[in-house]
Amino acid sequence: MSGDTQASFSASVRNTICSKYGHRCATCLNLLPEVSTQSAHVIDSASLESAVDLGLLSPNYLRSSPANGMALCADCHVGFFTPDLIALAPALPILQYILHYINHTPAANQIPMHEVFDLLSQAMEGADVALPDLDSVKPYLGLFTLVILRPSDVFGRCISTQHLPELSILQGDQFEIAPTGTSPVGENVARIFDVQAIAADPPPKSSGIIPLSPKDPEFKEQRYWRLPLGIGAVCAALIAYVALESYTSHEICCAQEIMAVLVLRRLQRGPSSGGTIGPSGAGSSGGGARLSGSHGGQHGSGPSGEKRSLARSDCQPGTKKGRKQGGSRDGFITKLWQSLSARGKQ
Ligand SMILES: [Zn+2]
Repeated sequence: MSGDTQASFSASVRNTICSKYGHRCATCLNLLPEVSTQSAHVIDSASLESAVDLGLLSPNYLRSSPANGMALCADCHVGFFTPDLIALAPALPILQYILHYINHTPAANQIPMHEVFDLLSQAMEGADVALPDLDSVKPYLGLFTLVILRPSDVFGRCISTQHLPELSILQGDQFEIAPTGTSPVGENVARIFDVQAIAADPPPKSSGIIPLSPKDPEFKEQRYWRLPLGIGAVCAALIAYVALESYTSHEICCAQEIMAVLVLRRLQRGPSSGGTIGPSGAGSSGGGARLSGSHGGQHGSGPSGEKRSLARSDCQPGTKKGRKQGGSRDGFITKLWQSLSARGKQ
């Protein structure tokens, strides 16, 4: 899913990743020849330093470890992830939980975000962890979804799968197979793509599509991917993708809100040696790119004209999937620093 064209895993790590996924693509679940199974980083190298500086990832994060890679087919990897057409996102309830945590937990009680992500992972394993109000998000731990980064480039496109999951429905604290007759777009209904479950016990083939644009009626269905990936790395990668764009996706808007809070807090702490935030890493040209919506204009409004601000505390996006309106993710923290610094001088 990393935008890097070439993954930098060692041969043994690549083999470990591909074996963990049963030589199946994590996205479309299709079984692949071993020789053509590709491995991808969760976060690209250009975004790693900023993610650590914001506290989203630990300084000890190992980008090329087996835990931080995933297996993909060439079609999904090269065709959709590498050109930044789509990206993984934590399930929306998880993003909303993170946003609520950083906005409403007393500052003295907050811990670094990468520690929050570690605790969420432990909670997923059944541990009793010291995080507030986890019950409502427990069913979504370990679940990710796809967001569309460039809708116009994937209009009418879809990803084919040989293993379209049955409908699942949330029952209590877990998803269960939905009863016959359940509406595919019903409340708390989703298709859950589980590559490791498929690899462990392959079911009969069930062909279908993963639509990437509203042209397909199935686009409105909720889809999740159950993946053995760290929430923090996926969240950090998503933030790097969407930092400077204007979207209407629930997940992307929530990620942008999280980023805004973390960047402002990081700025309040001041520059640090080796960090990516602050004058030492930002240059002095000023007037850099703006976080979408901060000042209106081309990057300031969603398609409905809705303006967004850095300080908004709730995520209230317009539509289900993403919409990009331009910009670049390279050096997003530096550009944010320039923008925020310029605003502070006004
Ligand atoms: Zn695939």
